[in-house]
Amino acid sequence: MTHTTHEAHNDCIFCKIIAGQVPALKVYEDDSVLAFLDIKPNHPGHTLVIPKDHIENIYGMPDETLCRITMVVRKVALAVKNGVDADGLNIIMNNESAAGQEVFHAHIHIIPRYNEDGFKHWPHQTYVQGQAEEVLEKIRTEIQTQ
Ligand code: 5GP
Ligand code: ZN
Repeated sequence: MTHTTHEAHNDCIFCKIIAGQVPALKVYEDDSVLAFLDIKPNHPGHTLVIPKDHIENIYGMPDETLCRITMVVRKVALAVKNGVDADGLNIIMNNESAAGQEVFHAHIHIIPRYNEDGFKHWPHQTYVQGQAEEVLEKIRTEIQTQ
């Protein structure tokens, strides 16, 4: 089944882009997914892949939507990498403001990276004795309740 109308969420900039009310440089589009250039790229070619349905983040995303955007991410990722001759890519999704999400319409960033481009990885910590096992147990308990 194809569906071409997507209920725009109030004041959502990405819903406005989907509806054609705000311009965007579109990389790829199909019935359920849109990919477009980020307006403030980390590197030129930085692309966002979004579901056309207004879904805030990954938590409640239907399986089919997740599958579709993931397949588009893979397709667009290779095109971006080759198109801007990147040495690698970061594929990142920020969920909730604590994680840096600023636009609350789910999106996956495809960010071109270059050898020696100077961007740093996020800082690393080390576990204290027993901490990894304790955290693991909590996460596994959560998985069992899903
Ligand atoms: P977030 O921080 O929510 O993961 O990322 C939101 C991204 O959306 C940012 O990288 C920002 O530059 C991009 N963005 C915000 N508004 C617009 C817009 O109107 N057009 C485009 N193309 N990108 C936008
Ligand atoms: Zn939206």
